[in-house]
Amino acid sequence: MSLPNCPKCNSEYVYEDGVLLVCPECAYEWDPNEVEEEGVVAIDANGNKLADGDTVTLIKDLKVKGAPKDLKQGTRVKNIRIVEGDHNIDCKIDGFGAMKLKSEFVKKI
Ligand SMILES: [Zn+2]
Repeated sequence: MSLPNCPKCNSEYVYEDGVLLVCPECAYEWDPNEVEEEGVVAIDANGNKLADGDTVTLIKDLKVKGAPKDLKQGTRVKNIRIVEGDHNIDCKIDGFGAMKLKSEFVKKI
């Protein structure tokens, strides 16, 4: 069984000490069975953290693959969902349907 890297410093020299895992580099100890679900984080253009259900607006025009027109700056996007990945916002936009956006191109209202 391979041990996970240290969640604090990403060291690969983690070892087991009883029920805990210990990082020899930053001395962090944790219980692997109690790993916090940190979830995915999306930060908007102003550095604000976005959450599921937030409403955002686009800060620039965005080209949409397969769509006949661009998404315009200022377009309001309601009820976003934060997901993992490069495009970390899952949403539906009127006239465009379901799509994914990058959080750096939106700002929270
Ligand atoms: Zn560490």
